[in-house]
Amino acid sequence: MSVQMKAMKVLLRRQPDHEILELEYLPVPCELKRSQRKSLAVHVSHNRVEVRAPLRMKRTPIELFVQKHQRWIRKKLKEKQRKHAEKLTLAAGRHILYKAQEWQLVIRDQRPTGVVLEPGRFCIQAPGITDPKAEKILTDWLKLKAKEYLPARTQALAQYLGVDHKLKEVVFRKTRSKWGHCTSEGRIQYNWLIMLAPDGVIDYMICHEVCHLLHMNHSPAFWDAVASVCPDYQRYVGWLKANEHRLWF
Ligand SMILES: [Zn+2]
Repeated sequence: MSVQMKAMKVLLRRQPDHEILELEYLPVPCELKRSQRKSLAVHVSHNRVEVRAPLRMKRTPIELFVQKHQRWIRKKLKEKQRKHAEKLTLAAGRHILYKAQEWQLVIRDQRPTGVVLEPGRFCIQAPGITDPKAEKILTDWLKLKAKEYLPARTQALAQYLGVDHKLKEVVFRKTRSKWGHCTSEGRIQYNWLIMLAPDGVIDYMICHEVCHLLHMNHSPAFWDAVASVCPDYQRYVGWLKANEHRLWF
């Protein structure tokens, strides 16, 4: 073992299902998950690092792999921590990103019940309001907006592309990580949280799902179809990548 490796003081606690690599140079725990895979991989979240390794791989190459990628891991960790801190929290004084604009979140005991937009202020209000109640009010408001906008727009685009006979229904679901989904039976599912996004992004998402009625994959032909309706789609994909973590609550 090299001097550098000794300095790292790599300790290992064996537990039934998982092992912890205690690496002094990482500010968060590093978990080792073994499975029937052939290569090593690292997965970083805001408060932990997970190394995925083949079942019988020796510890030394695993540790060297993590050490070799520590700069990348640290960079990724910072990015994940920033995004975690920016996550939407429904509490007075926080900010909400609505239609690509920063609004101060105001939760107030006031009639009428609902969402009221004032210059720079996104107000959620109801008599006797509480934080769970504020969440319910915002949820209802977004669901209503989604129902008013998404099905009609989806139908119109499907018609324009000549695939409306394939469209069976439009449903809504708040999923953990997806904005939209299209099944081979022609059911398009949207996450109503997308209504917080700018209109261009919403339209891109509709375009993406409706184009799946033409191509049930992400082939070049699929992206050509997307581009034919939404030439700026890469801009919207980029916006989502940079900001979508701020739309979930
Ligand atoms: Zn897709």
